[in-house]
Amino acid sequence: MLRTWFAIPLWQRVVAALILGVLTGWAWGPEAESIKWIGDFFIKSIKMLVVPLIFFSLVAGVAAIGDLRKLGAVGGRALALFVVTGQIAVWLGLGLGTLATSFQLFPTRETLGTPTVPTPEPNPTTAVDMILSIVPESPVQVMADVAVLPLIVFSLLVGIGILMAGKDGEPVQKVFDSGSIVMQKVTMIVMELTPFGVFALMAWVAGTLGLEALKALSWLVVFNYLGCLLIIGVMYSGMIKFIAKLPVKDFFRGILDAMAVSYSTASSNATLPVTLRCAERNLGISNSVASFVISLGATVNMNGTAMYLGLATLFGAQIFGVDLTLGQYFLISILATLGAVGAAGIPGAGLIMMALVFGAVGVPLETIAFVAGVDRIMDMMRTTTNVSGDAAVATTVAVMTGEIDRAEMVSADDV
Ligand code: ASP
Repeated sequence: MLRTWFAIPLWQRVVAALILGVLTGWAWGPEAESIKWIGDFFIKSIKMLVVPLIFFSLVAGVAAIGDLRKLGAVGGRALALFVVTGQIAVWLGLGLGTLATSFQLFPTRETLGTPTVPTPEPNPTTAVDMILSIVPESPVQVMADVAVLPLIVFSLLVGIGILMAGKDGEPVQKVFDSGSIVMQKVTMIVMELTPFGVFALMAWVAGTLGLEALKALSWLVVFNYLGCLLIIGVMYSGMIKFIAKLPVKDFFRGILDAMAVSYSTASSNATLPVTLRCAERNLGISNSVASFVISLGATVNMNGTAMYLGLATLFGAQIFGVDLTLGQYFLISILATLGAVGAAGIPGAGLIMMALVFGAVGVPLETIAFVAGVDRIMDMMRTTTNVSGDAAVATTVAVMTGEIDRAEMVSADDV
């Protein structure tokens, strides 16, 4: 029996768990919350890997790249793709929001009744706070706090230090190479929990979904899913097909585990170890490019969130009757991009970032209280979009810099 279980490729077990979880949740109802702890156990287990995995893989990856100019080429291309895809995503959100408002699809203030949660306090984070938070004051503290961005900065510097040290740095490089392999094995073990975690989380979400709130906000949810599907199906597929020139089907088959885990956990950070593993093992991307682009992408590249921030602002503007000028559209596009960069890869982060955009264009913060009740189901799709985007950018950059083993990708049958 155990042998039969392990004989089924992991991605098939995960997809089956996702579907079964939804069906179980529907049949079971709110009682399904009683198995949520299995999902939390899974999330805790993969989160445990984030810090050691980034630290070992990224340092080893930077050191293996061997040349700072190449590292610059990888970083520069990744950042350019993050910015371009992020802007397309925000304008897509704004376009969909404009479409919905011109057909008066969003509900009116009166039909929404009282919000399900209290209106949040304005977000005190400033741009200066954001810049300062990138610098690690103490590497140990950063690791204890699982603060991904400063950890990336520290790991990059250690990797560069190894390169600069030349022969003297080799023993340390060996430690990181070996540590990175060990952490990949640990990831493999933990990933065996995925079907159980995904099943429990999906049953919980499907069982406890507030149908009343969902009905009132159904158009927002529909447009959120539509926007995300367009980003994945058109923008990412286009990148893979026309820029990376790789088979789109194999790309998505390779990242199915990461898509399922991001959908059920709604956390890019928690999915990071899975995304990394898919990128290296199933897509054939080198450790240097995968660890750098995917760790960075998990915190700064959030196209689903960027699209949603644009869409949600127009939603709020309609329900509260705020007229927006073209200039304000541009302001939203900049702030939504910043919001997506600043949002942590955790559930509900996009919701918090709404305060940043809303405040600047005069949309009442009360809007956040209205959408909070159905945010989880939208967050799941945004996170899947964010994570798929990290993999798409990593693949494209790997092709551009010759850091991909194509044969490995195409033979990704036994994922
Ligand atoms: N939960 C999302 C993520 O982890 C961020 C968001 O809330 O939009 O990628």
